[in-house]
Amino acid sequence: MGTAGNLGLTTNASSRGTIRFVAHIAPMKLGITSFVLAALCCRFSGLPAVAQDSAPAAAPLAQPVPLPRSRPHQSAAKPGWPEPQSFHEAVAGLDFKSEDVTSAPSECRLRLEKIAVIAPLPRLMGPGTCGGGDMVELSAVKLSTTLQVMVKPAPTIRCSMAESLTLWIRDEAVPRFAKTGAALRIVDTYDDYNCRGRNRVIGARMSEHGRGNAVDIRSFTLADSKVVFPTDIHAPKDLRVGLRESVCSRFPTVLGPGSDGYHEEHIHLDLAERNNNYRICQWDVREPPPPPPPSEEQALIAAELADKPLPNPLTTKVGGQGASRRKL
Ligand SMILES: [Zn+2]
Repeated sequence: MGTAGNLGLTTNASSRGTIRFVAHIAPMKLGITSFVLAALCCRFSGLPAVAQDSAPAAAPLAQPVPLPRSRPHQSAAKPGWPEPQSFHEAVAGLDFKSEDVTSAPSECRLRLEKIAVIAPLPRLMGPGTCGGGDMVELSAVKLSTTLQVMVKPAPTIRCSMAESLTLWIRDEAVPRFAKTGAALRIVDTYDDYNCRGRNRVIGARMSEHGRGNAVDIRSFTLADSKVVFPTDIHAPKDLRVGLRESVCSRFPTVLGPGSDGYHEEHIHLDLAERNNNYRICQWDVREPPPPPPPSEEQALIAAELADKPLPNPLTTKVGGQGASRRKL
């Protein structure tokens, strides 16, 4: 999490990585540079480079001070977020409002603490529009006083996203798995807060992951340790259809197999707000492909078998034990 010191300022962290912006303040470098310039100036002006109280005539000349090495060439790749133009932007984030700063928990957090196990987090800040306030780490959904569904790894997301995810797990996912005779124990996440462009493409538009409004789900672990992947074509189709319908009715954005090629093995959920409440529900619930047609050889064998007369069904010995039973 964020630390500030003489040499830099670090902001932002997520459970899977740390996004850092370091504002370098290096007074030491300025001092060294000033010393080097002063030494060169004095050398060419004929003055001694270092003041001496009683310099003897044969005193050796000051050794030339080596110039600092040039910096290595830096990559021209641009980050996936706008470069901050001021200290305020870099540290606080573009949407930061000092009047919003309070130690009181939000109404969302008060509601969420009753139905989930969460850890409130400090405001995540920058760079650019990344981060935001009212962030939490969601580690479990409460089903009763003793029963919980774990969320692993615990995602760092905004409280509003955590509340939507909690309600979906409790009210939609758990009952649907229960219908199949299985108890849901763990929701396995794949990504959460992450300051990056969409689909991890450098320079792309900011992903909702960068605002803490998105979470990716990879699989579900059941009480018998069986793991169900919602993108697996062999997983029960009715279950996958039910999961898709329920997430699409709750989240404005759902991306899965068949959406854009980046979500073939996980489901992306986010709370993006669009004009006219436009929603995106792109998740193809696929079925296993039909078996391939028989080869030519297999077709010939099948035709030959079809032409043969059926064996006589009356091959049982008359008068055996079974026959006597039938008489009775
Ligand atoms: Zn995602």
